[in-house]
Amino acid sequence: MFVTKEASEKAQWHKLKRQPREKEMSHLADGEAWKDFDKEYPDFAKDPRNLRLGLATNGFNPFSEKNTRYSMWPVFVVPYNLPPWACMEESNFMMALLIPGPTCLGKDFDVFLEPLVEDLLELWAGVRAYDAITGKMFKLRAAVLWCIHDYPALSTLSGRTTKGYFACTHCDKHPLSYSLRGKIGYFGHFRFLPKGHPLRRNNEFVGLHESNDPPSEFSIQELLAELEKVKDVRPAKPQESGTKRNRSELKSGRVKIWSRMVSLWKLPYWHKLKLRHNLDVMHIEKNICESLIATILNIVGKIKDTVKARLDLKDLGIKKELQFREDGDSCEMPHARYTLNDKQKKAFCEFVGKVKFPDGFASNISRCLNAEGTKVQGLKTHDCHILLQRILPAAMRGFLDKDIYEAIAELGKIFRELCSRTLNRDVLAQMKKEIPIILVKLEKIFPPAFFDVMMHLPVHLPDEALLRGPVQYGWMYPIERRLYTLKRYVRNRAWPEGSIAEAYIADECLTFFSRYMDDVDTRFNREPRNMGFSNEEAYGVDVFGHGVNFTSAPELVYDENGFDQMVWFVLNNCSQVETYVEYVLITIFL
Ligand SMILES: [Zn+2]
Repeated sequence: MFVTKEASEKAQWHKLKRQPREKEMSHLADGEAWKDFDKEYPDFAKDPRNLRLGLATNGFNPFSEKNTRYSMWPVFVVPYNLPPWACMEESNFMMALLIPGPTCLGKDFDVFLEPLVEDLLELWAGVRAYDAITGKMFKLRAAVLWCIHDYPALSTLSGRTTKGYFACTHCDKHPLSYSLRGKIGYFGHFRFLPKGHPLRRNNEFVGLHESNDPPSEFSIQELLAELEKVKDVRPAKPQESGTKRNRSELKSGRVKIWSRMVSLWKLPYWHKLKLRHNLDVMHIEKNICESLIATILNIVGKIKDTVKARLDLKDLGIKKELQFREDGDSCEMPHARYTLNDKQKKAFCEFVGKVKFPDGFASNISRCLNAEGTKVQGLKTHDCHILLQRILPAAMRGFLDKDIYEAIAELGKIFRELCSRTLNRDVLAQMKKEIPIILVKLEKIFPPAFFDVMMHLPVHLPDEALLRGPVQYGWMYPIERRLYTLKRYVRNRAWPEGSIAEAYIADECLTFFSRYMDDVDTRFNREPRNMGFSNEEAYGVDVFGHGVNFTSAPELVYDENGFDQMVWFVLNNCSQVETYVEYVLITIFL
């Protein structure tokens, strides 16, 4: 990373060129976790060349859907020193390991991680490297700040359970988990509200009559004590009896939240880190969006409002209007007001089909819904991202009751703010207060079975964002894109790992060379598809000086409506016509 002057400059951007603004977070260096690390290890922070890394992994199947049981695990190292526009760029990821398939590794993952941990230990101590700017050798050090993965992989990489009553990795003590028929529900978010909040007093709608404090996380001492108990657990050894955990076990302190002490704990700085494992916003959005759509559109097989969910209501003695109505020998399941009827479903699908987005903003989401709104298929993570943040809040208006529509719109707004490129600390603090209220509002509407652990996790997202910085450095989108590239490398289907390893090396060499060649057309100096320009002097009127060069646009023909929109735009955005507008307003209204 330091062999060319340009690359070396980029790797020191976070300290030399970054201009921090108060309360704003646009790079990881603005986050608390980074600052805290600097405070803990001032000698490491002193040299801006020392690398801060992210460890990203996910299992993937190189054969599309034909052989669905194959799973290989590449492990990437992401350098975070780079400026925001290069930080999560695919070509900067380094593949440190490629753990071969065909089975998912689970607890054996650690054995494969061992060589990487040894390398990281060496890097923490420091290795000799050449810096092109100074032209001298220096001691390069590197530290891993956190891991990026989806929720099941969090368990694989950290050794902490992500299932059962302790599925939430932030709620170690007194979690919000309650046993329902056939599943575990995470509800009672009023516990996150401050004492004396009006919504705290009136919580009969979830059938809980306790008013406990919010769940809490283990302190580092408690965590190390927990890990001490499992430090001798070795991979590949059969675990102790796999009996089901229940709440009585939990009270007697016999439940093991941590199954083993993973090799990452060998890193001397690991216990000092504020945020070791990221919650993946991408998958949380997808799961929430799918639950909402399936429940609102009543999709068979995916809906959360099942017979068991309605029976839970009777068990808990809540929401009488949704409980089964007995009529002689038969039972009737009353229609819930959060489910659309056939006519509304059709109108909803029609609306989704008509929504138009700018080029490259979203895929054609209407393809995933059939015309009757009875089937949803092939909804990708990015579709859910757009649906939850933009479409659902607008589409539900008019179809659902005001309280339901508002709660969904507020949830969409929270995610929209959370996913913005620059975060504001005040906004995050406000968001932290708002999320429990939104979840309580949703709890008032939907049955408890609707609230799985994914509906609960948003509560912790603002805290993580404050520690980490913007979401895009800790979510799975760039990692998934990289996995897709690796998937395309597979030529010899008998040896997918070999294909990927060879192609990866070739690709990395080419990428490395292309950084030296300015006069050759490479993907680093190619012009983007839609080039913007700014040339105010040539036009004299500033609104016409900005624009986009279309590379493949046909001749455009505007109708009357289009002309009206253009006139409106000029009148509202151009400084030169301000005096004219004022003159007209004065002559009309005076
Ligand atoms: Zn939690």
